[in-house]
Amino acid sequence: MNDATTRDLEIDAQLLHAAYDRLRLNVGLTFACIVVFVPLLWKFFPTAVMMASLLALLTNVSVGLWLARAFRRAAPKIQDTSRWRRQFVIYNVLAGASWAVGPAMSYPQVTSPQLVLQVGILLCSSAVIMASVADRAAMQAFLIAALAPPALAAVVSGSGYGVELMVALVLLAGMACLIAVGRRSYGMLRKLLETEYRLRGAISEASAARDIAERNDEAKSNFLSRISHELRTPLHSILGYASLLEEDKKISGQRRDDVQEILKGGRHLLVLINELLDLSAIESGHVQLRPEIVNTAMLIEECRRLVQPLAEAKKISIHADMSTFAAIYCGGDKLRLRQALLNLLSNAIKYNRDGGVIRLSVQSLPGERVRVVVSDTGIGISSGDMAKLFQPYSRVQSASRAVEGSGIGLTITHRLVELMGGTVGVDSQIGVGSQFWIELPVAATAVGGNMETQIAIAPAQQNATGAMPFTGRFQRLLYIDDRLENLRLVQRVLVKRPHIEVTICELPLQGLETARTLKPDLILLDINMPVMDGYHVLAALRSDPELKGIPVIAVTADAMRHDTERGHAAGFNEYLTKPLNMDAFLKTIDCYLPPPVQPNVQVPEWNYAAESLH
Ligand code: ADP
Repeated sequence: MNDATTRDLEIDAQLLHAAYDRLRLNVGLTFACIVVFVPLLWKFFPTAVMMASLLALLTNVSVGLWLARAFRRAAPKIQDTSRWRRQFVIYNVLAGASWAVGPAMSYPQVTSPQLVLQVGILLCSSAVIMASVADRAAMQAFLIAALAPPALAAVVSGSGYGVELMVALVLLAGMACLIAVGRRSYGMLRKLLETEYRLRGAISEASAARDIAERNDEAKSNFLSRISHELRTPLHSILGYASLLEEDKKISGQRRDDVQEILKGGRHLLVLINELLDLSAIESGHVQLRPEIVNTAMLIEECRRLVQPLAEAKKISIHADMSTFAAIYCGGDKLRLRQALLNLLSNAIKYNRDGGVIRLSVQSLPGERVRVVVSDTGIGISSGDMAKLFQPYSRVQSASRAVEGSGIGLTITHRLVELMGGTVGVDSQIGVGSQFWIELPVAATAVGGNMETQIAIAPAQQNATGAMPFTGRFQRLLYIDDRLENLRLVQRVLVKRPHIEVTICELPLQGLETARTLKPDLILLDINMPVMDGYHVLAALRSDPELKGIPVIAVTADAMRHDTERGHAAGFNEYLTKPLNMDAFLKTIDCYLPPPVQPNVQVPEWNYAAESLH
C-alpha cells in the first residue's frame, strides 16, 4: 500500500469518526425540531399528517441514537471504515425520509400559506442538519431523501402551473444549493485534514530525526570520552616511568638517549591525541564556551611565561611591551583563548630560526575590536600556501617537515576564535617571517568580581584554599587506584617528598576501610574503577563524619572538559588528569601536605609540552 492510499484511508476513517461524533448532535437537533414544531403546527395540519410525521421523526431519533452508540462501542478499525460508512449513508436516507413524510402526505389538502410555512421549515431544518453531517455521500442522501419526495408529491398533486409547481421548484432549487454548499464545505474539511495529516507526518519525521541525532550525539560524546580515557591511561605510565628513568643519575650514554626518545615520542603522541580529540569535539559541537572578560595583557603574559623555556631552547627572544596594552579587555572563553594564543606562540617558536625574535602586541581596532598579534622572524609562508592554512591536517612549507606537528593546531585555533565571535588572520613573507593575529570584540572594562585579578594563584593563597600546616609528623597520603602501575608511579614520584607516608590500595572498598583506620591527611582517588567508581568512593567519604574533612584529589584519565566540571561539582578538592604533569602534581601535593622546606621546583620542558600547550 503506497503512502497516498494510506493517507486517503486514514483521512476517510477520520472523517467517518467525525461524522459519527456529530450524529448525536444531529439527533439532538431533530429532537429539538420535534419539540418546537410539532406542537406549533399541530392545529394547522391534519392530525394524520402530524401523527405520521411525529412517528417518523421519533424513529429517526431512536435509530440515530442506537447507531451512534453501536459505533462508539465497536470503535472500528481503519479497515472497517467502508462498512460503517455504508450504514451511516443508509441511516441518512432514512433520516431524510422521516423529514419528508409529513410534507409529502400534506398534498393536496393544505392551503398556500401552509405550504409556504412547510417549505420554509423543511428547507431550514435540512440546512441545519446537513451542516452537522460530516460525510459527503450521507449529506447528499439526506437532502435528496428529505426534499425530493415532497417536491415530487407537490408536482403530482398539483394542476398545471399552480402553487404546487412553485413549491416543487423551490424545494429542488434549495436541494441543489444545499448539496453544492455541502460539497464545498466537505471539500474544505477534507483538505484541512490532509494538511493536518501532512503536518503530523512532518512533525513525527522531524522528531524521529532529532531523536536519532541526539542518540548519535550522545554516542559520539561517550566514544570521545572513552577513547580519551583509554589512550591516556597507558600514556600516563609510559611518560611517568620514562621521566623517572630520565631523572635516574645512574643512566647515561645511549640508554639516556633512548629514554629521551621514549619521552619525545610519548609527548608527541599526547599532543596528537589532545589535538585530535579537541578538533573532533569542536566539529561535533561539543565544546561549550564560557564567555568572560579577559585582561589581554595578563593573558599574553601568562602565555609568554609558559612558552619561555621552549623559546630559550632555541635562543629566541620574546618581546612584549605590556605597558601599551595593559588596559585592554576582550570578550572570550579565557581557557580557550589561552589555548589559541599558545598555539600561535608555539608555532612562532617552532617555525622560527635559532636566535630569532617574536613580538607580541595588542591593537585597538575601530568597531570595538581588539587584535592580538604574534610576529616572528621565521621561515615564513609562501602566498600559494596561505590558502591551505587553517585546513585540518595540512602542513605547508617543505622546511616545516623537519618540525614535528600534526597540522591541526591552526584549525583548532581558527574554529575556537570563530566560536568566540572573532577572526584569525595571517600575513607572511617567505624567508622574512609571519604575523598571525586573533581579533576579538572588545569587552566593556570589568569592575569587580568578573575580572581576573591575577595571573596565577600564588602558593600562599593556594594554601588558604585547603592546605594544612606541617606539624612535624609524617603526613599520611592514601592513594586508591585499580591499576598497580599507577600506584607504583606515584609512590616513586613521592619519594621526593620524604615527609609523606604513602599508602596504596587497589580496591575501592578496601581503600574506604583503610581511610577509616588510617585517617589520612590527603586522599588521591582514581575515578574509573570496577565495582565502585571514584564518585561513589567520594560520596562515601563525604558522608562519614570522621572522614568528610579530608581533602580528596581526583587523579584520572577522564580528561574531557565536562569530566573536569563533573569532578569539581561532585566535591573533589582538585581534579588532576593523566598523564600527570609531575611538576604540577607535586606542587598540588605541596599545597595540601606542605614540606618543612619549600622545594625549589624548576619547570621541566616535557611537562610544558604535554600539558600546557594543548
Ligand atoms: P602543526 O604546527 O602541528 O603542523 P598547525 O596547524 O599549527 O600544525 O600549522 C599548520 C602549518 O602551518 C604548519 O605545519 C606550518 O607549515 C604552517 N605554519 C604555522 N605557523 C607558522 C609560522 N609561524 N611560520 C611558518 N609556518 C607556519
